[in-house]
Amino acid sequence: MAGRETITLRATGDRLQRLGFTGNALSIDSATLDGVPVAASVQEDVLSFDLPKPLARGRIVRLALTYHGRPARGLSGSATSLYTTYFACDWMICPQDRFGDKAAFSLALRVPTGMDTLSVGRLIARAPTRDGGEVHRWKAPRPYSPYLFGFAVGRFARAGDRIGSAKLSYLSDVADTAELKRRFAETSQMVQFLSDRAGAPLPVSEYSQLLVEGREAQEAATYSVLGVDALATKADDPTEDWAVVHELAHQWWGNLVTCATLQDFWLNEGITTFMTAAWKEHRYGRAAYDAELAVARGRLDKARAAGFDKPLAWDGRYPNLATRRAVQYSKGALFMDHLRAILGEDAFWAGLRRYTRKHAGGLVTSMDLEKAMEASSGRDLHPLFSEWVSGADNASEPPPPAAPAPAS
Ligand SMILES: [Zn+2]
Repeated sequence: MAGRETITLRATGDRLQRLGFTGNALSIDSATLDGVPVAASVQEDVLSFDLPKPLARGRIVRLALTYHGRPARGLSGSATSLYTTYFACDWMICPQDRFGDKAAFSLALRVPTGMDTLSVGRLIARAPTRDGGEVHRWKAPRPYSPYLFGFAVGRFARAGDRIGSAKLSYLSDVADTAELKRRFAETSQMVQFLSDRAGAPLPVSEYSQLLVEGREAQEAATYSVLGVDALATKADDPTEDWAVVHELAHQWWGNLVTCATLQDFWLNEGITTFMTAAWKEHRYGRAAYDAELAVARGRLDKARAAGFDKPLAWDGRYPNLATRRAVQYSKGALFMDHLRAILGEDAFWAGLRRYTRKHAGGLVTSMDLEKAMEASSGRDLHPLFSEWVSGADNASEPPPPAAPAPAS
């Protein structure tokens, strides 16, 4: 792929001498800062641009880049489609793990005529190019964290639905319109349920679900990528619809209300894992909720048996993806269930609504959830949060090394 990118940025530190982004396999062909050439270098997974002179705090500048190459990660596809998954900073220049650095995003995709595209926000323009292709321009409705940037190109069957003023779009290169309608028949009810629990409507005017081959389950800013093997084989199977509701729940928890740093990643994933169980309770009954949390308990028990249990906001590195998920996803969900049991239905859900509405579009730490739950219940929850979340009393061991791993 080949791309041209412009990043408008503001210096938040004083005398900034270098701009750092996630290193990737792309080759930088040109780089300028406000029109002045800057040199790019890669060292230990960091792509840097050395500035000709230091930037003062608050200065706003434009970094303009052209690049080409074959991304090492973050792109999948079939004979008739190409779509991104999680590693945005492998196909563009951005900081992958800086969840707190939300940015406005627009993307113009140059594609062969007749191709369908999907990206963040809405398709705002579509124009032919001189060489017989087309450019599709997409624009995000609000700033999002870089890991949520993405796109898809292909020949897709389509189906759709509406809920309130929001449009739901279903696309696939492996299923026809009838199958899309059947597989995503419950999405609108899920939106209704999650909106009620969040105390806020679906945060986007158009939400899409892209159905692909395999086991994919990945949220992007305003859409999700779902693999056929991650979905139920028959409708009404309460054991198998987690992926649709989990990725949809990220529209509120994760994408709209985002952990400021990876330390509080459990807020993105523990809450969505819990909300998956809550949807199942709403849709299929209490036994389905209990079953979902039993899965979480089993995963946490396995990590504990291997001698690895950490507070939810532990800031070290996990030995592997399964262990990290056992804490941030599974234990996070179990903590939400525990809070619900302790606070009771009214105070718990009021606390979740307060947390979601207050921080919509912004960044959160565990303290924000603690404060919201305290405000709704009138109780001092600091001891409970210390025990489960910050682990204030626990000494941390030196972390084992591990490769960064994707969220979903
Ligand atoms: Zn997730």
